[in-house]
Amino acid sequence: MSQAILKLEQVDKITNELPGLDCGACGSPNCRALAEDIVRAVAFETDCVIKLREKVKILAEEILDLARIVPPSMADSSKKTNEK
Ligand code: SF4
Repeated sequence: MSQAILKLEQVDKITNELPGLDCGACGSPNCRALAEDIVRAVAFETDCVIKLREKVKILAEEILDLARIVPPSMADSSKKTNEK
């Protein structure tokens, strides 16, 4: 009984974090059904196309941040080529 209540709380929490559009693009009829599938470990939050898009955007920004970092060895060599 306590496990059922715990799972219901998890479903409520995940449902509140999903967009609430009930569009069905994730394959579930609505956001709450996807939340139930996530709690049953038969689906992922990224099955929601909106959540997937958010995660891809965050990853793209992190990749751009990493691409802007110049390793010290490369920074030194660019100074040397500029000094010539
Ligand atoms: S794709 Fe996202 S917004 Fe659409 S029903 Fe599924 S969980 Fe809800």
